[in-house]
Amino acid sequence: GKDVSGETVLITGAASGIGRLLAKRFANLGCRLVLWDINKEANETTAKEIRKQGVTVRTYRVDLSNQKDIFAAADKVRTEVGQVDILVNNAGIVSGKKFLECSDEMVRKTMDVNVMAHFWTVKAFLPTMMKRDHGHVINIASSAGLIGVNGLADYCASKFAVVGFNESLQFELDSLGKTGVNTTLVCPYLVNTGMFDGCQAKFPWILPMLLPEEVADGIIEAFLCNQRVVYLPKLLYFFLALKGFLPTKCLFLICNFMGANSMM
Ligand code: NAD
Repeated sequence: GKDVSGETVLITGAASGIGRLLAKRFANLGCRLVLWDINKEANETTAKEIRKQGVTVRTYRVDLSNQKDIFAAADKVRTEVGQVDILVNNAGIVSGKKFLECSDEMVRKTMDVNVMAHFWTVKAFLPTMMKRDHGHVINIASSAGLIGVNGLADYCASKFAVVGFNESLQFELDSLGKTGVNTTLVCPYLVNTGMFDGCQAKFPWILPMLLPEEVADGIIEAFLCNQRVVYLPKLLYFFLALKGFLPTKCLFLICNFMGANSMM
């Protein structure tokens, strides 16, 4: 894998779950960290833990549903830290409501945090990466960005958008010959973080979940060897698809999961 010590990594949604673990793993690799989250206190806790590892960490309170907030924070990062080498678009939210119960406001918020924030952060940091022909963007989507899930219409729509965005962005970089700038699209299956609290009761048939540690390790491994897509499914998913609990389309996808990129 590549050597990323001394590089600056910006992680969104670093205050908890997968983002927090990713921050620790990048710190282990000797990276400098920039942590963005709306939850100031919890973000500080992540930073404190990482400072113990002896690396430089800066935290910013950013509301990722707000474009102005993102661009203002990006400017601050440029002056206070310098260029960003690795951008991890990790923050995400889920309403967990059936489509007809989702208010317009809720759907917009999901789209802003899960999709628009990715556009905006990439807009803010990609130009410098392209100028230097050096950089990496990691976009966290979901297995819900590949197949529909009963009861998660707004979330699935947002994650499908992330998948399309990431793939198209990579095409664009390739066509421009920017070989030093790459993307990694991550599609984890259900992960045992705060995000899906209570979903064990709601979706007992799609358990077991992945551990956030497994996901963070998978992402780092994929990033280090420049893997462009990483699926993190659970084998059980396959059998549920066979049993007809999930759309047949996903059988094809699961077969792909079992190929070169698979991690069970
Ligand atoms: P999490 O809820 O533990 O962490 C999400 C973080 O994002 C939190 O720290 C939260 O404060 C922050 N955040 C939320 N809204 C924000 C906003 N407006 N501005 C700034 N920060 C905001 O969730 P997680 O499970 O660690 O999720 C991380 C990513 O992984 C998300 O994109 C999620 O969709 C994706 N994912 C999660 C699962 C899962 O089952 N948990 C599965 C597949 C993909």
